[in-house]
Amino acid sequence: MDAADRAEVLAHYAAETAGCRRCPLSESRTQVVFGSGNPDADLMLVGEAPGFHEDQGGLPFAGQAGDLLARLLAGIDLGRDDVFLANVLKCRPPQNRDPLDAEITACEPHLFRQIELVRPRVVATLGNFATKLLSGRSHGITRVHGQEQPLELGGTDILLYPLYHPAAALYTPSMLRALEDDFARLPQLLRGDNALETRSPRLAVAPSEHPEGTEGPEIVADLEGDVLAAGATQLGLF
Ligand code: URA
Repeated sequence: MDAADRAEVLAHYAAETAGCRRCPLSESRTQVVFGSGNPDADLMLVGEAPGFHEDQGGLPFAGQAGDLLARLLAGIDLGRDDVFLANVLKCRPPQNRDPLDAEITACEPHLFRQIELVRPRVVATLGNFATKLLSGRSHGITRVHGQEQPLELGGTDILLYPLYHPAAALYTPSMLRALEDDFARLPQLLRGDNALETRSPRLAVAPSEHPEGTEGPEIVADLEGDVLAAGATQLGLF
C-alpha cells in the first residue's frame, strides 16, 4: 500500500473506532480520541490515555502536557502535524486514573493497527504504560528512557524510543532536563544515524546545557499551576 492508500485506510479505521465498545470506558467517555497528525509520519509519539481536555475536544495532548510536547517538538523543528500522536487508551479513564490491564488489552489492537498503517520509523513511548506495552518488558521508564531499541511492531520495523511522559516532567525539573536531552537525539534517530557512535559525546555535554535555574525550571514554573490544579493523578507515569 502506498502512503495515500494507508492514509485512506487509517481514516476509515478512525471512523470505525469512533463507535468502539471493546471495554467499559465506552460508557463514560465523551468521545473516542483516536489520534492525530501526519498519517505518513516518521515519528509517532504514544502517550497513556486521554484526559479531560482530550475527551472534550477529541484530540490527543490538548492540555498542559501537550503544550510542553509541542515546545519540545518545536525544538527539533517539528510541529504536531508532522508527527502522529496517539495513546495506549483511546478513551478517558474516569478521574484520569491509571489504565487497567483489561482496558489496555482491549484497546491495544487499535494502537498496533495505527503503527501498521502509519509505518513510522521511530515510535517514542511517553511514560511507563506505553513503554511497557510496546517493549513487551516490565522495565520502568526511569531505567530505560533515552535507550532506543529496534523492534518489529504491527509488521513494521521501528525504533522504539522510551521517553519520560511530559506530564511527569512538568512536576520534576531533573526529569524535564532528561526529556529535553532525550528529545534532542530524535533527529539523528529519525535520520537512521548510528546512535551508539554519538551517544557518549551527547552525555558528556548534557550537564552543562541546562545549569540549575535555566530553561528546564522555567518551563516547569510556566506550567505547574495548571498541572497542580489538575491533581496529582499522573504518578503512574514515571
Ligand atoms: N494527553 C494525552 O493525550 N495523553 C496523555 O498521556 C496525557 C495527556
